Amino acid sequence: MSRIFSGIQPSGELHIGNWLGAVQNWVHLQQSYDCLFCVVDLHAITGKYDAASLASRTHDMTVGLLAAGVDPEKAILFVQSQVPEHAELQWLLNTVTPLGELERMTQFKDKSQRYESIPAGVLNYPILMAADILLYKADLVPVGEDQVQHLELTREIARRWNAEFGNGQDILPEPKPLLTEAKRIMGLDGQAKMSKSLGNTIGILESPEAVWAKLRPAMTDPARVTKKDPGTPEICNIYALHKLLSPPDTVATVAKNCRGALWGCLDCKRVLADNLSAALAPIQARAKELQATPHRVSEILGDGAARARRIARETIREVKERMGLSQST
Ligand code: ATP
Ligand code: MG
Repeated sequence: MSRIFSGIQPSGELHIGNWLGAVQNWVHLQQSYDCLFCVVDLHAITGKYDAASLASRTHDMTVGLLAAGVDPEKAILFVQSQVPEHAELQWLLNTVTPLGELERMTQFKDKSQRYESIPAGVLNYPILMAADILLYKADLVPVGEDQVQHLELTREIARRWNAEFGNGQDILPEPKPLLTEAKRIMGLDGQAKMSKSLGNTIGILESPEAVWAKLRPAMTDPARVTKKDPGTPEICNIYALHKLLSPPDTVATVAKNCRGALWGCLDCKRVLADNLSAALAPIQARAKELQATPHRVSEILGDGAARARRIARETIREVKERMGLSQST
């Protein structure tokens, strides 16, 4: 069975961009693949973060994933820092990673602008991501468009390591991307992708009132200044969300009423808010149950880390042996 690895940072709340772009697909994939899903807290400490709340954000992210349908009976769900082999492999791969490639990463170029003095972790982040994937020799990595470049670098790192230490064998197989249908959910500002760190999100655990409060002022087609101005649904983020969350006949009505200026943006948003909140209701009910049993969540993570570690240890043993490093007994 092909193996899949994917991760999510506990850098904020699980939002509908993560859910529609990644997690829904994870839930689907766990039915037919050998899946490892990881809350990547070591990634989330890149740059400035709040140490006091990281543990609770990691816990909340786990609750969100379980509530959204990640099933620990089917997939291995674990926290990255509980498997120290991630950091160990990162160092080993660091030795074959070209600096120029790291500097070329779009995300590095974007993120580095936020710092006066750029922490090395912001640059080296994709090496840790490569380690996450290669540690489990994953065949496939479901990613949004934002991560395709990093995955390409993972492949490059695997090639270089194999060429240097593999003795003609692909000890670290090159993973392939598995692009999801909803590739890139835009944020409520309509300017950038929905992202935990940008504050343009709707969280999956938000109440119908909170969802409405966020959707109400959200960006739409700027041509629709008043209700009488016709719009172009294809360029509107609200329409894009309708396509993912509303039934096909509603989507058709939305497009017709927008083009024909038959209703205002608020009417359109109201329908979306109702459909979104209805879709989130069962997730929120499950989250409530999990929040009431935190020991159960810790148990799931403990078990997941132990299972992940069994695989990780074997890869580290192999990699260290090839690199001529001594092994502990
Ligand atoms: P951060 O702002 O901290 O980077 P994020 O919201 O981008 O957070 P990640 O933890 O980086 O979330 O990514 C988790 C998963 O969600 C990845 O598979 C990523 O490709 C996917 N993802 C993130 N944002 C979106 C989005 N707006 N649309 C579709 N998929 C997304
Ligand atoms: Mg991100």
